[in-house]
Amino acid sequence: MLIECAYCDSNVDAMILGEHKSFRIDDPFPFKVTLLECPVCKNAILAGQEFYEVGTDKYEWNDAKRLWPRPEKYLNWNLPKIVRNALEEAQKCYKAKAYSACTVMCYRSLDRICAEYNTKNKLLSGGLKELLNKHIIDRRIYEWGEVIKENCNIDEPPTNEKIFKDEARDLLDFTIAICDYIFVLTNKYESFMKRKEKI
Ligand SMILES: [Zn+2]
Repeated sequence: MLIECAYCDSNVDAMILGEHKSFRIDDPFPFKVTLLECPVCKNAILAGQEFYEVGTDKYEWNDAKRLWPRPEKYLNWNLPKIVRNALEEAQKCYKAKAYSACTVMCYRSLDRICAEYNTKNKLLSGGLKELLNKHIIDRRIYEWGEVIKENCNIDEPPTNEKIFKDEARDLLDFTIAICDYIFVLTNKYESFMKRKEKI
């Protein structure tokens, strides 16, 4: 199974030692956990895979993500598909060390948020402002969005690979946090408050 070994810091074809598939009636998201051994350093790696819709009534296990050590971030299934796809692309670019492409996809993820809310202003800066005015995001999230907008999609990225990697990682983390805030935590909070009101 292809996965990035955290010790070797490179992609390896790891040996499968064992696996477990979860298909629970009360959980709409099946999950597979695989215990692996890196062929280079012989360390253990735990990988996770989600069951992904690839066509009409057609599902496949998606690319393995590392659960241990140094877990990779999982994207929430409640994110709209167009936003989730852009974030997945950003994660793939980061893993492939394509940091410039990663930041471009972060920028595009924010763009997709505006598209999801059908903002009148099609430019990102205007779209974010519209989301702020409609109270879909608050001032802090708006400011984070502005930082992402200013630091992504730039013509001349930092020449130092280490700085660029750290920057891309931070921008990716901010972008995922913004998407979670808008589409996951806000919905969770509203559901929570509705349950409270019923009681
Ligand atoms: Zn290794």
